[in-house]
Amino acid sequence: MSEAPFPDVCASAVETIGHTPLVALDRLARGLPGRVLVKLESFSPGGSVKDRIARRMIADAESQGRLPPGGAIVETTSGNTGIGLAIVAVVRGYRFFAVMSEGNSVERRRILSALGAEVVLVPQAEGYRPGVVSGEDLALVEQCAAELAAELPAFRPNQFENAGNVEAHAATTGPEIWKQTGGRVHHWVALVGTGGTFLGVARFLKDRNPGVRCHVVEPATARILAGQAVTDTRHQLQGAGYNLIPPLWDAALCDDCIGVSDADAIETARRLAREEGIVGGFSSGANVWAALEVARRASDGEVIVTVCPDTGLKYLSTDLFP
Ligand code: PMP
Repeated sequence: MSEAPFPDVCASAVETIGHTPLVALDRLARGLPGRVLVKLESFSPGGSVKDRIARRMIADAESQGRLPPGGAIVETTSGNTGIGLAIVAVVRGYRFFAVMSEGNSVERRRILSALGAEVVLVPQAEGYRPGVVSGEDLALVEQCAAELAAELPAFRPNQFENAGNVEAHAATTGPEIWKQTGGRVHHWVALVGTGGTFLGVARFLKDRNPGVRCHVVEPATARILAGQAVTDTRHQLQGAGYNLIPPLWDAALCDDCIGVSDADAIETARRLAREEGIVGGFSSGANVWAALEVARRASDGEVIVTVCPDTGLKYLSTDLFP
């Protein structure tokens, strides 16, 4: 077997994380003064923006001696972060336990199992139904994860509190956007779940150019970061809008908050597919709707960058693409 390096081969799936394309939405934004560019995070191996933080949180734990070779990782997750962690765990040789509520969708369980993750299902609190995972359900999941992690023992990445979440985006997503646009960015627009994507990119861009305006996107009925009264926490923007101020939050990086309704997010996700050939999820629809709003109010030639956090293929069992 030849030991000579190949000209262009990745050593593992982990090396395919990031370096995602930035695409101009020149069909959807036709006639608007601003130009909208969208970063397609579905190009990473787990199909979402969360692969970046999975790689970073595990690498940090390794270098800090918190994850011995062959060790175990426990995270409470139902979706994209779990899939990213499962991929990195496979390649680096760790056991990964995804602790989730029985109320979460079956597709996510199946993808995690396919990746060799051990899925621990926690029964829902009395009176709750599948598809609606409540705060009470999440408390049960957290309790189960804490017990399991203590028993194994295991490393808990805890994406909501792990600074590596923000750092992953400040070190990769932000610099990629800067390079791809040649530094021609006037606005950054993103929905907040843990806040990692919004904060990491905002910090990097403002560091390069303090004039970049950063717009947070929130569900129209749960605008907690805008300081408004929350009227309804049930919304369809999965992975975001958790009705809390994320522990990693830094208000100094936020210039503006935009509320998006489920209907506008869904309609925009459908238009993104039909008019741009891009199949995104609910949060992609929300981000692009908000970016188009910013483009409408922008000065001529201003550049608005946003992100498609994942793919619509993860939501085929929902009413997004009937
Ligand atoms: N959209 C989707 C589909 C997600 O899974 C997430 C992450 N939970 C987000 C948006 C928000 O990203 P962040 O956690 O970096 O704020």
